[in-house]
Amino acid sequence: CGIVGYVGSQDVLDVVLEGLRRLEYRGYDSAGVALRTDAGELAVAKKAGKLANLEKVLGEHPLPPATLGIGHTRWATHGGPTDRNAHPHLSADGKVAVIHNGIIENFASLRAECEAQGIEFASETDTEVTAHLLAAAYAEAPEGPGRLAEAMRAVCRRLEGAFTLVAAHADESDTLVGARRNSPLVVGVGDGEYFLGSDVAAFIAHTRDALELGQDQVVEIDRRRGVTVTDFAGAPAEPKAFRVDWDA
Ligand code: GLU
Repeated sequence: CGIVGYVGSQDVLDVVLEGLRRLEYRGYDSAGVALRTDAGELAVAKKAGKLANLEKVLGEHPLPPATLGIGHTRWATHGGPTDRNAHPHLSADGKVAVIHNGIIENFASLRAECEAQGIEFASETDTEVTAHLLAAAYAEAPEGPGRLAEAMRAVCRRLEGAFTLVAAHADESDTLVGARRNSPLVVGVGDGEYFLGSDVAAFIAHTRDALELGQDQVVEIDRRRGVTVTDFAGAPAEPKAFRVDWDA
């Protein structure tokens, strides 16, 4: 339902929680965050109910400081509104964290394929399969810059339905990727910091310079390399730049 991603130098938890608060108007039943720590791990907290429930968990079990991460407010479509079904979802090896808006229509066959390979699922969502597929696609993608985006493109080519996806990888200290089909995704461009959002409310407190992703596009935001957009085949794409002119 609500999506926030951040790469920069601010404390990511503050940025992500601020964005999720501004997206609350959309309605939701659960909330969660995943941060990429300096130790090269993904730290996740998620909880059914209001953001206050998540903030209580974060107060009792603080996550390490970090400057790259994602946050989600969920409106359940597949799987009840439980802690386990809240996003982010992790791959079996804990290396990939993904958040998702929309519905993956062909999740059942993809899930069966993963389960046949011995992967155990931790939730009842349509979303979780994308975390496992991303981990596998990342392992196969060429090493070096753009690897996570290449993995995202490979996964998107297999998905049917409506999705905004944003993913982080434990081995990627500077990069977040996002993708969209039949569901919106906007990029916020700050000064050495970059945001992803399901709408501009996700980052309006920080920047008004935005890019709107077109249908079937993948975006990489990278601390050093900035914003790179392609279609699902990997051809460069030009997102539409705009300025957010409404009052925060
Ligand atoms: N279909 C996904 C789920 O039920 C995402 C729902 C949403 O858009 O928040 O977990």
